[in-house]
Amino acid sequence: MTSMSIRLKMTLWYSSLIAVALIILGAGVYLFVTYNTYNDVRVNIMNSIDKVGVIVNKDESSGIEFRIGGVSIDTNSYVQIVDYTRGVIIQSDALIGSDIQFDYPSTPDKVEQGFVQVVENSYNFMIYNKPVKIGDNTVALIQGAAYIGREDKYLDDLRSILIFSILFVLLVTFTSGLYLAGRALDPLKKIIQTANSVQDRSNLSVRIERGLPNDELGRLTDTLNGMLERIETTYNELNETYHTQRRFVSDASHELRTPLTTIRGNIELMQKMSSGQLEPSNLHTMQEMMEDIADESRRMSDLVADLLSLARSDAGVRTAKTKQRVLPIIEDVARRASVLPRKAEWEVADLSEIEDVTIFANSDAVQQLLFIFIDNAFKYTPSGAVSLRAMVSPDRAQLGIVISDTGIGLSNEQIPKIFDRFYRADASRGETSGTGLGLSIAKAIIDEHRGSIEVKSIEGQGSEFTLWFPLALIGSEDGV
Ligand code: ADP
Repeated sequence: MTSMSIRLKMTLWYSSLIAVALIILGAGVYLFVTYNTYNDVRVNIMNSIDKVGVIVNKDESSGIEFRIGGVSIDTNSYVQIVDYTRGVIIQSDALIGSDIQFDYPSTPDKVEQGFVQVVENSYNFMIYNKPVKIGDNTVALIQGAAYIGREDKYLDDLRSILIFSILFVLLVTFTSGLYLAGRALDPLKKIIQTANSVQDRSNLSVRIERGLPNDELGRLTDTLNGMLERIETTYNELNETYHTQRRFVSDASHELRTPLTTIRGNIELMQKMSSGQLEPSNLHTMQEMMEDIADESRRMSDLVADLLSLARSDAGVRTAKTKQRVLPIIEDVARRASVLPRKAEWEVADLSEIEDVTIFANSDAVQQLLFIFIDNAFKYTPSGAVSLRAMVSPDRAQLGIVISDTGIGLSNEQIPKIFDRFYRADASRGETSGTGLGLSIAKAIIDEHRGSIEVKSIEGQGSEFTLWFPLALIGSEDGV
């Protein structure tokens, strides 16, 4: 079913309203003029009739005597007196010897009262019949008439002019209405075109061209453009997340495959040896193979643990946090760090400044976080020292925990990437063990605690990581 366009509908609606108004106005004008015109004629007829003198002779035998135009009667006036027994007994000059002769009723009861229009000899007339009575007896009939051909023609012309003008005005309003509605709805057309192009080409970057007026359509355009903007941003974000996740899954699979391949290779070798296919090598080789397997399994379980931890934070799993003093957590970490295998010195600064500092935190998560940085610092510091200190920011709003080292450091290009999943700077690959997930986990933990990480590093000289935590506000007990 094809539906009528809004443009046509609007035009038809308002054209019909105008049509109704014009027809009422036209009809009113026509009726008014018609009434006035014929009224003048009626007044003239009555005037002519009034000029007829009637003398009633009391003598029954000689009957009644009539006179037309006691003074003078207009030569254009058609007046005649009919006596029902004798017929026309007297006529005005215009009727005497004329082709025009009015019919008259044969008896008084057939008289049509008032004004009537007749056609006589194809001329239009208006006639007034006035009975003449003596007592109750109708003795004669005075007929006064007027030629109304001119008036009829004038009214005919008026009617044609009115009809023609109404039609003309309607045609003009309809076409201009169609044009104006078209222009007013032009923005809608643009909106539809844009929406179609979004649909056809899945192109979310298009925007609807905005006209100047700030009318409803202008505002609709703004709203739709705003919506497109949001859809585009959301789509891009989702798309990016989707690609990041895919890359993550493929990186994770790749990382898991390497240890698995080693484990399988070693096991196959050992199987062949035990089934006699291969010369059993000496005990030392067997031991190495088993150590390889143990190492790789450890690497795999570390990796799986890291993956799990990231998957939890991706899924939005939040750890329970409580308001607590941070000093015991740091002291515990410092103590355990001192027994870690390392080449560098382990230095812990005076922590008295943060004696009473409290934060909303999950202590396990904070410990894990600190170990990620301390582990890294030890791993990437072949000589020198790794130190830990803590302070409160000058605005007393944040706690800062600083882990610095005198290790290999990072270049300016590497720094922004170290928090990416599976990213390991070239110097670390092969040299040190690691999954490249530690700092991604650290970032997830600090984000969950509404904190931030600051990195300063000079290649070859060392790095400094500052972990900022918002202080727990006095009196507020709700966790973040
Ligand atoms: P990894 O398991 O490789 O340590 P991380 O996510 O913890 O993974 O770190 C990512 C990379 O950032 C590391 O591979 C290393 O190149 C670099 N990095 C991290 N900490 C340090 C540091 N203290 N000094 C120098 N480089 C570091």
